[in-house]
Amino acid sequence: MKTEDRLRRLAAPVRWVLLDVDGVVTDGGLAYDPEGREYKRFSARDGLGLRLLARGGIRAAFLTGRATPSGVLARALELEAPEIHADAKAKLPAYEAFKARHGLSDPEVLYMGDDYVDLPVLRRAGFPVTVPGAPAAVRRACALVTRAPGGHGAVREAAERLLDLKGLLDKALERYYD
Ligand SMILES: [Mg+2]
Repeated sequence: MKTEDRLRRLAAPVRWVLLDVDGVVTDGGLAYDPEGREYKRFSARDGLGLRLLARGGIRAAFLTGRATPSGVLARALELEAPEIHADAKAKLPAYEAFKARHGLSDPEVLYMGDDYVDLPVLRRAGFPVTVPGAPAAVRRACALVTRAPGGHGAVREAAERLLDLKGLLDKALERYYD
């Protein structure tokens, strides 16, 4: 089967996009102020990508192993998206709990993660996506590797690709046409 057909088949049932944060929504860099408060840098382009998803009826959530004050990610990207706090070393239980809470099955989830800790979820989710800087084993486990690096439009690229594969991109972009 051609790659594009395979991707279209994987994209068809997806209703949720679940995102690892460090290395996917950010470039993996961490900055701290003198009081030890953590700073993250986000791409505004990713925020728009997630809002486009919402227009296509696809919801997004963050699955992060690192403690972030509640609501920070959503506010930073100007969108409504829940944050699911996973154990930093084991994301699978949080993923399973998330699916149960929303009545989802694996094929309905696109998961985007960039490191070994994401592998169990990437192997489970219907549409696994990663970034070019991910280790080879992670890239091999994924159906799609974005061209853009984490924190520099990777989420935007995955969002638009998903909408396109589902035939929803034109609808999501309608408001920009007039
Ligand atoms: Mg990560």
